[in-house]
Amino acid sequence: MTLVWLHDDLRLADNPALTWAAARGAVIVVHVDEPESATGVREPGEAAAWWLDQSLGKLEQRLSAHRVPLIRARGDAATLLPRLARVTGAGAATWQHRHHVPLAKHDAAVAAALRAAGLTVTEHPGHLLTEPADVTTKQGGAYRVFTPFSRRAGELIDTPGALGAPLPEPALHGPGTDIADAARRDVGNRGDVARRRDVSLERHNTPGEEAARARLAEFLRKLVEGPGYEKGHDFPAVDATSGLSAHLRFGEVSPREVWVTVAELADREPKAAGDAHAFLRQLLWRDFAWHRLHHHPDMAWVNMRSRFDDFGWEYFPADGPAEHREDLERWQTGRTGIPLVDAGMRELAETGRMHNRVRMVVGSLLTKNLGIHWRHGEEWFWQRLVDADHAANPFNWQWVAGCGDDAAPYFRIFNPVTQAERFDPDGEYVARWVPELGTDAYPEPMLDLKASRRRALAAYERIKDR
Ligand SMILES: Cc1cc2nc3c(=O)[nH]c(=O)nc-3n(C[C@H](O)[C@H](O)[C@H](O)COP(=O)(O)OP(=O)(O)OC[C@H]3O[C@@H](n4cnc5c(N)ncnc54)[C@H](O)[C@@H]3O)c2cc1C
Repeated sequence: MTLVWLHDDLRLADNPALTWAAARGAVIVVHVDEPESATGVREPGEAAAWWLDQSLGKLEQRLSAHRVPLIRARGDAATLLPRLARVTGAGAATWQHRHHVPLAKHDAAVAAALRAAGLTVTEHPGHLLTEPADVTTKQGGAYRVFTPFSRRAGELIDTPGALGAPLPEPALHGPGTDIADAARRDVGNRGDVARRRDVSLERHNTPGEEAARARLAEFLRKLVEGPGYEKGHDFPAVDATSGLSAHLRFGEVSPREVWVTVAELADREPKAAGDAHAFLRQLLWRDFAWHRLHHHPDMAWVNMRSRFDDFGWEYFPADGPAEHREDLERWQTGRTGIPLVDAGMRELAETGRMHNRVRMVVGSLLTKNLGIHWRHGEEWFWQRLVDADHAANPFNWQWVAGCGDDAAPYFRIFNPVTQAERFDPDGEYVARWVPELGTDAYPEPMLDLKASRRRALAAYERIKDR
């Protein structure tokens, strides 16, 4: 019998760890909700925790059709998994490799505890297209700039046999009900696994592997018949992007499956090829963010460009000056009086999502016009985004703020008014989220865009040559 410890791989298809386990015999699947005190890494924010709970529920149903139990527990996996192995008599354990260094170290400690108890332990790839440590410059170092990274990653992916074909769902069977019951009684639901309801997230999102497949199929259709990814992906009112980010975040579909399917479409349908390749290039930003996090595990709180350490950003955990907290709150709740920004922040609050173009605009307003530290934005997104992850969220916040790797230059300050004119020319997106625009109910802009831009540039002047 083999224990499959789920990480961000909540799927049956193209799941190398599950396939390895199924080939050995009976399988028990386990998910451990681990507190920060066990891993040293923050727990998922509210929206992502909701998604995770829903996705596990869906997976549990699919596994139960094969009589495979999914045991859910809360605690430290280094204690719980050896205990589960004892109760079930499992002889092996397996999981998908994690790339965030503190989590990889934690997994190594769990593996050591299981091996000490006599189990065989294996780890498998699957969360990324490329292993972060495998993508190296000619000198053997890490990449800091996306374009050369994407070129090298593309070469590795295209090396014959390197990526491989997606695996089909394995034939699964579980242990006898007595073992499954014993596992549930002893370890399952230990420490009170949180079950989450959120009516508005439920209205706008469908977690789970089946929904991920449906999204991918729909995206392939859009690539052939739709508005075009390359032209349309910057327009928040246009449904041109894949909408796969949270599915990829939780591994409900593998990046390999997405890559292979879209690349095959590009070969088959010449008229979709340009858009398909633009999408595949965008998908590599995900690997790049993980590559950077692998080399800088402190990316969620340390500026990647250290000269920004002396930048006068306002960072005020809880007890900061009231006027700044008030500014932050207006930004968070979509009451800045700047329509595109408010639309984005309200979309986020209601759906757990926000269009990429709008993420950049709201981020620029917070970190540049308002002069508030990017960490406040990152933490807010961490709580609110269904796709928030350890790599993409801090990476992109640092990109927007100008202090990150290959970042937008600090002096590139998005003007939310001209951005709206360009990317939401008919005001369709703004009208969807800010219906009271143009009435007395809508607030005046909370700041003068021109003056705040000048202030931001002057602040940058002071550090730019350091
Ligand atoms: C401030 C800020 C914070 C962000 N936080 C996150 C986050 O926590 N999680 C997250 O997945 N994305 C994050 N992004 C990136 C991007 O906004 C989302 O990946 C994208 O909007 C998801 O929509 P989609 O799946 O339709 O994207 P598509 O355009 O269809 O792209 C396909 C996939 O490529 C990946 N991808 C695309 N752009 C990026 C990028 N810039 N960085 C990393 N991966 C990318 C995603 O997995 C995405 O699903 C952030 C961007 C900004 C500006």
